[in-house]
Amino acid sequence: MSYEGVIEQSAAGLKELVESGEEIIGYIYPHVPLELFMAHGFTPSLIRALPGASSGYEESLQTFACAYIRNLYSQRANGQFLTLSGLLFPANTCDSLQNLSDIWRVRFHDDKVLRLTYPVTRYSQDESTTKFLAEEIRLLSEKLSRDYNRPFLAESYESAIDLVQEFRKGTQFLYSARVVNPRIISYSEVVRLVRTFLSIPTMSSISDIREAVSTVQVAADELGLLDSIESVRHAILSGDYSGVRLPEELETPRIVIAGGMVEPQAIAALMHEIPNFSESTLVLDNLSFGFKVVFTIPPSKADDPFMAMAKSVLSAPGEPTHEGLSYRMGAMKGLLKNLSIQGLIVCEQSFCDPDQFEAPSIEKAACESDVKSIRIPLDPEFSDRGRIETRIQSFLETLG
Ligand code: SF4
Repeated sequence: MSYEGVIEQSAAGLKELVESGEEIIGYIYPHVPLELFMAHGFTPSLIRALPGASSGYEESLQTFACAYIRNLYSQRANGQFLTLSGLLFPANTCDSLQNLSDIWRVRFHDDKVLRLTYPVTRYSQDESTTKFLAEEIRLLSEKLSRDYNRPFLAESYESAIDLVQEFRKGTQFLYSARVVNPRIISYSEVVRLVRTFLSIPTMSSISDIREAVSTVQVAADELGLLDSIESVRHAILSGDYSGVRLPEELETPRIVIAGGMVEPQAIAALMHEIPNFSESTLVLDNLSFGFKVVFTIPPSKADDPFMAMAKSVLSAPGEPTHEGLSYRMGAMKGLLKNLSIQGLIVCEQSFCDPDQFEAPSIEKAACESDVKSIRIPLDPEFSDRGRIETRIQSFLETLG
């Protein structure tokens, strides 16, 4: 299915949910406690940049606002948003998101704006970081109960943990399967499944994931790859690659796409336009709306719900919006050195300060792992598409 087709499908699915009476809370930053909204009876839906959103509202935002949030603002100003019960903004992440949330309150005062403040770091010797976020989640929960008269229901919370965990386990398996054999399922299909669930986290999205997992399991079993896939999944989650077993004959070159809030589905569509690209070339992404959402650990049912959700959110592979650069670069080297990678494409969202600060360190990590890399600035509209394609094509040629 084309990128445009996937966007249309997600939008139609969301519209259907709204028409059937579901209340939707939109969110923008990818790492939110989905289980919290479901426990209060809401459907959380990730709001993303769209390639066709026309601009013209630049003067409303500060000059440092990135291309991503400009696109979101334009969608809202153009009336491209469905009616949402609320929209969750993150606080303490980046200046652009802060600016977007401030301007949103002023310009669209009928919209219900919610906020979740993140700790500046993910790491602390004691549990202070987790406790901080747990308290923020608890305050958000109280607000949802109070403002919408929808209490937190323990039963709904437990079902939500099961639903989100099934999404993560299934997509972790598919991501890991592609590392072992990228031809076993296409990258665009995997990220389509991820996108659909994040837009519409329902049992019907889970059914599609189940079906894909079962097809890949059968194929992997016939090829004798199931143990290898599990070894990759375990290594990515634990950071310990000593048990990874990849097949001896791997097609090359093998590349990883790194970056932050870049749309994996758009990357998949872009790569398919490049003449020397084949399905075996792109083995993994490290993007916020793909890999980082998928390889997050679920909340434990045995813990206090707010602490459990905070731990889960903080277990996601790190974002450049927070402290922990050395940890993130260690994790990047782990992927590059142990998964037989030859090339790394670093995608930077235009005017994204966090991406631009992080990119030189990623390049250095690639160099230290004997992996060639290239930096590609882009925006959600791919306004410089021809040049981007040419640069990626030349890069793939250098990898042979
Ligand atoms: S793309 Fe960068 S600057 Fe824009 S919202 Fe995301 S982290 Fe912030």
